[in-house]
Amino acid sequence: MLPDRCSVLEKGKQCVNPPEFIASIIDDKDEYMIGVTCEKHKQIVSGKIEILQNEGKAHDGKISFAPIKIVGTDCVHADMDDFIQIDIK
Ligand SMILES: [Zn+2]
Repeated sequence: MLPDRCSVLEKGKQCVNPPEFIASIIDDKDEYMIGVTCEKHKQIVSGKIEILQNEGKAHDGKISFAPIKIVGTDCVHADMDDFIQIDIK
């Protein structure tokens, strides 16, 4: 299940855009989903993941953005516990 909003917080406020990409880190063995982002915040999310990687708070690996294909939105419920909030103050 995916959240119905982009994971980015701008000045403490959740971005209201629907998510367009799933951000994840891919290493040799696995893929780790980090969050979701709209087109506008893709670069910010990418930069933020690099910072997390440098700080050792995220897995090393290649950052990937997979387009989300929405197939009917009725059953999409946010489960934000699985995602990090990306705060860009
Ligand atoms: Zn956004």
